[in-house]
This record gives sequence, C-alpha cells and structure tokens, in this order.
Amino acid sequence: MITIYQIGSIYDDEIYVGSTCRNPWQRFCEHKYNFSSNNLSVSSWKIIAKSKTNDDLRLECIEVCEEEDRMEYEKYWIKTLPNVVNKYKFEIDRESYNLNYQKKNAARLCERIECSCGKFISRKNIANHKKRQSHFKREAKNNSHMGLNQELSVECA
Ligand SMILES: [Zn+2]
Repeated sequence: MITIYQIGSIYDDEIYVGSTCRNPWQRFCEHKYNFSSNNLSVSSWKIIAKSKTNDDLRLECIEVCEEEDRMEYEKYWIKTLPNVVNKYKFEIDRESYNLNYQKKNAARLCERIECSCGKFISRKNIANHKKRQSHFKREAKNNSHMGLNQELSVECA
C-alpha cells in the first residue's frame, strides 16, 4: 500500500506532497534528515527549512492507494491542493519540457535529409515518400546507373 501525504508547517499554508510505500513517519524523518544533511535537491526542503522547533511541522496522510495508482494520485493531489511547493515538478517543468521538445522536434521534422534515392525530403515526409512510385522509379534509375557511379567514384579516388 502507498500512502500519499503532505508536510506543512504552522507558519503558513505551503505544503509538500509526497508518497511512500513505507511508514509515512519514517519518510517524514528522512525529509528532515535530508534537510539537515544539506541535501537541497529535495523540494521538501522549502517546508522543512521553516522548522524552528520539534513540533512546528505537520505530517498529514491524504490517502492510501495501490502502487499502480501512485503516480496518478500523487499528481492529482499536487495539482489539486493549494500552495503545493512541488507543483513545479509536474506542471511548469513538464510543460516547458514538452514545449521545448515540440519546438526542437518541429525543427528536426522539417529538416531535409537525403533519401536513398537521392531526393531531399523533410524528415516528417520521408516515410510517405518511400512508399511512393516516384521513389521506386528513382531507386530503379539509380540502380541502372550503378556501374557508371562506381566508375566515377573510382576515378575520383
Ligand atoms: Zn526516395
């Protein structure tokens, strides 16, 4: 069983949402340990950093679910609950990543590459092109000139 939990402090409404297959209190202690050992790669540090006493942080269990639903439910709570500090992880990060990927990929897909038949085709159209008659005709033509091409390349070398 997976426990989805939140960590908040008594100072404001910000919370960290996480999930664990173990005892959430044990996980909570790890979050604290991660902070005290200066492992700031964990986004829970934003909450833990507010701690001044031993009882100013609060751990609450949001729900218990099956392992297979873990990602979906954790994501759901991160998106749904207000003031979640790790919202970044799923929303901003993922969206800008997708946008960058699409931009990069769009440029890549429009890039013209040389087909085996010698024609230059954009990457996105090459699969279709390779099914076309014009491609087969060019390939056939190239093959019939193969002898000539080989002679030429020998000459060049
Ligand atoms: Zn071709």
